[in-house]
Amino acid sequence: MQILEKAPAKINLSLDVLHKRDDGFHEVEMVMTTVDLADRIELTLLEEDTIRVESESRFVPNDERNLAYRAAKLLKDTYDVKQGVRIFIEKNIPVAAGLAGGSSDAAAVLRGVNKLWDLNIDLDDLADLGSQIGSDVSFCVYGGTAHATGRGEKVTQLPAPPSCWVVLAKPPIGVSTQSVYQNLKLDGAIHPDTKAMIQAIQAHDFNSICKEVGNTLEGVTLSLHKEVAQIKDQMREAGADAVLMSGSGPTVFSLVEQDARAQRIYNSLKGFCNEVYIVRMLGYRETT
Ligand code: ATP
Repeated sequence: MQILEKAPAKINLSLDVLHKRDDGFHEVEMVMTTVDLADRIELTLLEEDTIRVESESRFVPNDERNLAYRAAKLLKDTYDVKQGVRIFIEKNIPVAAGLAGGSSDAAAVLRGVNKLWDLNIDLDDLADLGSQIGSDVSFCVYGGTAHATGRGEKVTQLPAPPSCWVVLAKPPIGVSTQSVYQNLKLDGAIHPDTKAMIQAIQAHDFNSICKEVGNTLEGVTLSLHKEVAQIKDQMREAGADAVLMSGSGPTVFSLVEQDARAQRIYNSLKGFCNEVYIVRMLGYRETT
């Protein structure tokens, strides 16, 4: 038996860091949405008691360090499952990019293995379990558009924003989320107005969404990597309606209403950056 799951990337329309908690995590408030750039996860039932992870990507570990492996292991241990699974990951989302690729793979494995092993766990419980793997996994279990609080694991669904083009560009640098948080100084940092972003989404108002995008972590990554600032400038000059870094970066995205402008932004970045994508904002939930 085989199951296919789509694992879409997310972007942060807004990301606010409120304070550092006693447990070492930061309290955040985010608005996230899925885009149509996805890994493909193929799950095959194994009768023997093993979890195997395979991928053709050299950036993704093929062992227990893989978040997809950890998702299957968590379900196996929690529900005392005796069967196994082979997980094949077709990696299309850039790795360590701020697009939650690993978290989305883990979430897709939770959804898919739930069916493969006939566990009948509902999505809310899968999302709860997912938070043990990583802060973004709960959101990725549902997909769509959501407001996330806590360390990102408390998720409230939002309506889909108006669809638009999203041009993504990842400069060839690695950014560790941990080091970005370590370098963050909350005094004087930019804080987006999350309430205003939620209202803009609820009003289905593209211009207000563009006006309210913001990311507290952006300043840190910009100060460490000048390439990120260059991409932002180039996207603005080529006519983006909004430009922001996603997560802790280094991927920068633009939101664009007109096809021709999206193409212009893509063309202007292609020579400068080899990981550039034009995709649609998904925004709505594909999961049930
Ligand atoms: P986030 O936006 O949640 O911070 P990210 O997009 O920045 O995540 P990922 O692509 O999820 O980062 O990868 C971060 C690290 O996790 C990589 O260094 C990679 O080695 C490891 N990793 C583990 N499993 C996976 C996976 N299935 N796909 C990608 N990376 C994975």
